[in-house]
Amino acid sequence: MMKTEIARLVELIRELYPDRERIALHEPVFVGREREYVLAAIDSTFVSSVGAYVDRFERMLAERVGAAFAVATVNGTSALHAALLVAGVQPGDRVLTQPLSFVATCNAIHYCGAEPVFLDVDPDTAGLSPAAVASYLKEHCVRRAGQCILKSDGGRVSACVPMHTFGLPGRVEELAELCSEWGLMLVEDAAEALGSRIGDRQLGTFGRLGIFSFNGNKTVTCGGGGAIVTDDPELARRAKHLTTTAKVPHRYEFFHDEAGFNYRMPNINAALACAQLEQLPVFLENKRETARCYAAFFADGPWTFLQERSGTSSNYWLNAIRCRNRAERDEVLQETNDRQIMTRPAWRLLSELPMYRHCFRSALPNAEALAEQLVNLPSGVRPEALPKSGAGV
Ligand SMILES: *Cc1c(COP(=O)(O)O)cnc(C)c1O
Repeated sequence: MMKTEIARLVELIRELYPDRERIALHEPVFVGREREYVLAAIDSTFVSSVGAYVDRFERMLAERVGAAFAVATVNGTSALHAALLVAGVQPGDRVLTQPLSFVATCNAIHYCGAEPVFLDVDPDTAGLSPAAVASYLKEHCVRRAGQCILKSDGGRVSACVPMHTFGLPGRVEELAELCSEWGLMLVEDAAEALGSRIGDRQLGTFGRLGIFSFNGNKTVTCGGGGAIVTDDPELARRAKHLTTTAKVPHRYEFFHDEAGFNYRMPNINAALACAQLEQLPVFLENKRETARCYAAFFADGPWTFLQERSGTSSNYWLNAIRCRNRAERDEVLQETNDRQIMTRPAWRLLSELPMYRHCFRSALPNAEALAEQLVNLPSGVRPEALPKSGAGV
């Protein structure tokens, strides 16, 4: 039964991604004005830390997601690090997050000298569970002078970092309510979720700050890149300052008023980013069509296709199925990879990694089950299914 099911899946994927020997999990597609903009950046000689494309990209992104401000950075990890610093996360603080994520989420917390607190995810969204957060806060914390304080050692819980797994919108509206009730800064790790929405509102804009990644495997890429978005002018100013070596603007003098970071996105990457972002609507439609094909395929089979919850729209960055157990998952992984179709399991839970094993965790039944049963399927934009006019720019 399993064997024929997997054979049918292989056939579907080969139909979706025809004429390739090896099918990647998520390949970039450059069919817009990428060459034109990158060449223009080279011709201008402004390829590095200043240039018009950086400003243009920041404006485009802010407008696209409906945030007042965007600050471009070298990658998503640096964006999250800077966002947490700007949010006021300090050494010794605890930060609530989910164990089912890419390691960058936790590393950024660690770079601030803070410690992650691992709370469970919801089984349908694979994102941080408001119920788990609420019960942790009630059991372990008190509110004192506007701050959230741990009963155990008097330490401070300063922020909450939910991650929208594979682009699926998590329950971030409920998390936002909890955060305002408990005096926590909500910083959204929307690295995977560019273009995903809850209602009409784009992910990344539910927290005080949100971050995106434009790494090579993300929906929109500029080689390496990231961005912070926020509606708060003061947080935006701080983010820009901190990510540009905290240099006080002056025509020729070098004066830096704190130990900042060289996290600014180079102009040549921003050129690529602008061209890619222009194609986001077309990419999203293409990816959502791929997801519809998978959803139809898995509708009556033994495995569950992870779908956007109602009232939300996912970018379906990575399509994912949930097998019934680990053995089935391993068989899917083996059989597909043997046939040159790249599939992969979810990340190892961050709470199991050597450097984070000592950190607090609640019971994690959903995260543990998902980590054992998830398989990501090929999900990149399918160029053969794009409108003939090119990328709709
Ligand atoms: C991709 C990603 C990041 C950022 O990654 P970079 O490679 O630094 O751009 C952060 N968090 C999550 C969940 C991610 O998937």
